[in-house]
Amino acid sequence: MRVIVTGGAGFIGSALVRHLVLDRGHDVLTIDALTYAGCEASLRPVAGRDEHSLLHADICDKAAMDAAFARFRPDRVMHLAAESHVDRSITGAGAFIRSNLVGTFILLEAAREYWSGLDRAGREAFRFLHVSTDEVYGSLGPEGLFTESTPYDPSSPYSASKAGSDHLAKAWQRTYGLPVVVSNCSNNYGPYHFPEKLIPLTILNALAGRALPVYGKGENVRDWLYVEDHARALDLIAERGRPGETYNVGGRNERRNIDVVRRICSALDARVPTAIPRESLIEFVADRPGHDARYAIDATRLERELGWRARETFETGIDKTVDWYLGNAWWWEPLRESYAGGRLGLPAAGVADGAAAGPTAAMVAA
Ligand code: NAD
Repeated sequence: MRVIVTGGAGFIGSALVRHLVLDRGHDVLTIDALTYAGCEASLRPVAGRDEHSLLHADICDKAAMDAAFARFRPDRVMHLAAESHVDRSITGAGAFIRSNLVGTFILLEAAREYWSGLDRAGREAFRFLHVSTDEVYGSLGPEGLFTESTPYDPSSPYSASKAGSDHLAKAWQRTYGLPVVVSNCSNNYGPYHFPEKLIPLTILNALAGRALPVYGKGENVRDWLYVEDHARALDLIAERGRPGETYNVGGRNERRNIDVVRRICSALDARVPTAIPRESLIEFVADRPGHDARYAIDATRLERELGWRARETFETGIDKTVDWYLGNAWWWEPLRESYAGGRLGLPAAGVADGAAAGPTAAMVAA
C-alpha cells in the first residue's frame, strides 16, 4: 500500500506515519510544510527507512501536489495537514482559512485529477481520508453525545475552517465520485504533542515548577483519545470505511480540564516528588472567548462496523504520556526553548493577516 500522509510531521500525523510504516509495512510519503507545529524529530523512528520519505511542501502549492501524486502514485491519501490550535485561530484566523480550507480544496483537486487517470480497479480501490474534529459539532450540555448525524455548529475560527473543509471533502465525493471518507475525533493526547496544548504544557510546566494556568474554573469537559488508538482508527477507516461516510472517533474518556491537570500533577508527584504537591501551581485565568463547554463522542459506528476499540483508558494513557515526556527531553527541550510563553487566544483588533501567530504560545486549553 502506498500512502500519502499530509501533516505527517505533526502530532497525530507522525503517530500515523509511525504506525503505517513500523506496524503495517506500508510505503509512506509525508507531505508537510513544517510550520511551527511540524517537527521532523517526530519522524526519527522512521527516518532512513526505504518505506518513508518526507516532502517539505505546502498543500496550497498545486504544482507541488500534482508532482507528488504523479511521482508517488498513492493508493491512499490521509489528509491531516492543518492549523490546529484554537487559541491561535482567535488571534489570527487567516492561516486557518488558508491551510484548512484552501489547502484542502487544492489537495482534493490534485487527488481528483490523479484519481481520474487511474484504471477502473485503481479508482475503486483509491481512498481519500479527510481527518477532522468533533469541534465542528459545537458544544454539548451536560448530557448527550455527538453522533455522525449531529448538525454542524462550529464556535471558533478553527472549528469553522474544519467544518468548511469537511463540506468540501463530502462535496468532492458527491459531485465527482472521489472516494472520500471523513473522520471526526475528540481531543488527542500522547507522545510527541507540541507543548502549547493542555496536557504536554501541564506536564512540562509542572516539571519546571512553573504556573499551571487553567481557563475559567476548569469545568470544560473533553473526551480524551490516546493518539496511538487514533492512528489505528484512521488506518481502519481508510482501509474499510465506506466512501461518503463519516466516522466519529473517541476514547469514551470524558474529563474536566481541572481533573486532567490534577491527574498529571499526581502522576508527576509519584515519579518525581517535590516538597510541595504540584497542584499548588494551578492558577485559574480568564476563560477563552467562545469556549465550548463539553465535547463527547459516540464512537459506536466505528466500533460496530469496523471493530475498533480504544486500548487505553485515560488512566493508562496519561501514565504512558507522562513517562514518555520524562524519558524524551531530547524531543521537547528544543521546542520549549523556541517559544517564550504568554497568552494567546484573546481577540486582537482587526487580525486578518493570513499569517499564523508566531510560536509564542503557552496557554492551557484543550
Ligand atoms: P499539528 O498542529 O500537530 O500538526 C499539523 C501539521 O500540519 C504540522 O506538521 C504542520 O507543519 C502541517 N501543516 C500545517 N499547514 C500546512 C500546509 N499548508 N501544508 C502542509 N503542511 C501543513 O496537528 P495535529 O494535532 O496533529 O492534528 C492533525 C489533524 O487532526 C488536523 O487536521 C486537526 O484539525 C485534526 N484534529 C486534531 C485533534 C487533536 O486533538 N490534536 C483533534 C481533532 C482533530
